[in-house]
Parts: sequence; structure tokens; C-alpha cells
Amino acid sequence: MLEGFPLSGRGPDGESLAVDVASVGAARPARAVVVSSGLHGVEGFFGSAVQLAWLQGVRAGRTAIPPGTAVVLLHALNPYGFAWRRRANERNVDLNRNFLDAGEPYAGAPPLYGRVHTLLNPDTQPSRTDFFLARATWAICRHGLPALRAAVAEGQYDHPGGLFFGGHAPEASTRMIQERFWAWTRDAGEVVHLDLHTGLGPHAGCQVLVEPVHAPELGWYRARFDPARVVSVAEGGAYAARGVMGAWLGRHADGRRYRFACVEIGTYASLCVLRALRAENRAHQFSTPGSGPYERPKRELVECFCPASRRWRRASVGRALEVIEQAVAER
Ligand SMILES: [Zn+2]
Repeated sequence: MLEGFPLSGRGPDGESLAVDVASVGAARPARAVVVSSGLHGVEGFFGSAVQLAWLQGVRAGRTAIPPGTAVVLLHALNPYGFAWRRRANERNVDLNRNFLDAGEPYAGAPPLYGRVHTLLNPDTQPSRTDFFLARATWAICRHGLPALRAAVAEGQYDHPGGLFFGGHAPEASTRMIQERFWAWTRDAGEVVHLDLHTGLGPHAGCQVLVEPVHAPELGWYRARFDPARVVSVAEGGAYAARGVMGAWLGRHADGRRYRFACVEIGTYASLCVLRALRAENRAHQFSTPGSGPYERPKRELVECFCPASRRWRRASVGRALEVIEQAVAER
């Protein structure tokens, strides 16, 4: 079954934007495996490739879905960012920092973020000589890479034009997911949710990141997936972010057994990824679409989140498919 859920806004060629949902398997499942892509728009190139490869496996008879199980593919949760080749949405909101609970204020920023805000988020047109890498290296020497990375990527709610901005209210995509997610799983009692991402970790490496809210069940993740890939965010394996989709769904599962992991495939070194995010954000806000200063950072961002290397693509899609297969398999 295939359904489309339109969102307002347009792509660069005037095209309409929507989240597409495909379901395969049991009509009334006891168990649903959800595979979502493109929550961080530009990462949708990779996520979408994985979803298509998985569907091709089903059509070719290589992939079996156990009885009582449905597999639900959520395609392009941030279709604006996907279409415009950026991580954030039409209001510069990082949707994976946007899922705060009612009553939790959309305000605040890590203190260290404030200190590097002007370095990260210049409010001028791109220039060739702003020595970002040298200045970032200086900031790393002063504050240490882990502290800086955590402060920058944790999420901030005070600088609307800046990177990792979590918004000032739930965005349209967020509200759609919050309202429809359990209907998309056809109210299965057990849900395993894999959210596909790129840009963190070693080149073509695959990590299954478990949020602190799901840490008590770490043993389940280690038994179900390749334990060498399972990384607990709570144990300091990665930075803990505010407003993460899977953490919100975990808190609102209402008695269902809901397990969530970000499947992260690495691309380039974190400073290169950060440099590309910074350049694209600057170009998107201050350059003219179609111009060189606009297009170059967009192309570099796509390369940073979906490298053109055939080896990277083959290895990464293969590893993500292994994780999905392990999630779907009957135990
Ligand atoms: Zn991501």
C-alpha cells in the first residue's frame, strides 16, 4: 500500500512536497518494522536508495517478511530539505531537534554554542577567505573536540538562522509524525523503528545508535543487531541531542513495545561535514539560487552526506540492508 501526505511549500522547480508511506506485509500486524528516511533532508539521497534497494529485494523474492509482520517505509520526512539539498527544513529547523514534549521550552543553547555562534553562522554572503578551518582548529584546541562537537550538535533554540536550530514550536513534519505514526504502523503492539542517517562516524562505517530513553533495553539491541555496531548514546558513544524523534515516540508509545535506533553511516571527518553544513547554510540564506556561490556549497553538501564513490555507496547500502534484515527477521 502506498499513500502520500502533502506538506506546504515547494521544491526549487515548483514541485509539490510530500511524505510518502509504503507498507508491505501483514494487514493487521502484531509487529511492525518502520524504516524512515530524510528527516535530515539531504540525507534522504542515501535513505531513499536503501528503501528502494529493500523494495527491489522484496520484488525479486530475496527478502522474506515473516507472517504477522509489516514493514513500513517513511520516505522523505523533510521533503523540503531533500528537494533543496539541505539538512534543515523551510524554516531552518533541524527536525531531529524539534520533538520536545508539551511544556518543554523551545529555548536555550549550550553555553559553548554561544561562544562559537558567530564562527558557525556568519550572517554575510559566502567569501573565499574566512579561514574557517584555522579558526575551528583554534576553537578545538581551546575547548576540546568532544566538548565542542557535543555543544554544537546537541541542538539550540536561540539562533533561528544557525546550525542545529530546533525551532520555536513543532514543525508541520513533526506534527504529522506525532499524529499519524501509530496509524502508519497499523497499531502493531511491537514496533522496531530504524531512522536512516549519514554523516557521523568512520567512512562507510555503520552504527546503530540507541537513545538514552531506550538504553535499559540495550541487551535487546545487542542481541538483535551486530553488537559491534550498537552504540549507546547514554554511555557516551555519541552526543545526546534534545528533541530527537525516536526519543519522543518512545515516551509516547502508550504501552506498545517501541524500539528505535538511528542507523548512521559515516562519510567524512566531522570537521569537513561541519564546514559543508556551515557553507550551505550561508549560501542558502545569503546567495542567489543558480549562482556559483549558491551551487558549489549545495554540491559539496550532497557529497558530504551521499558521497559519489561507488565503493561507499555499495558498502553503505549493503550495511543498512543488513540492519533492516536483522530487524525484520523472526526470532
Ligand atoms: Zn542525520
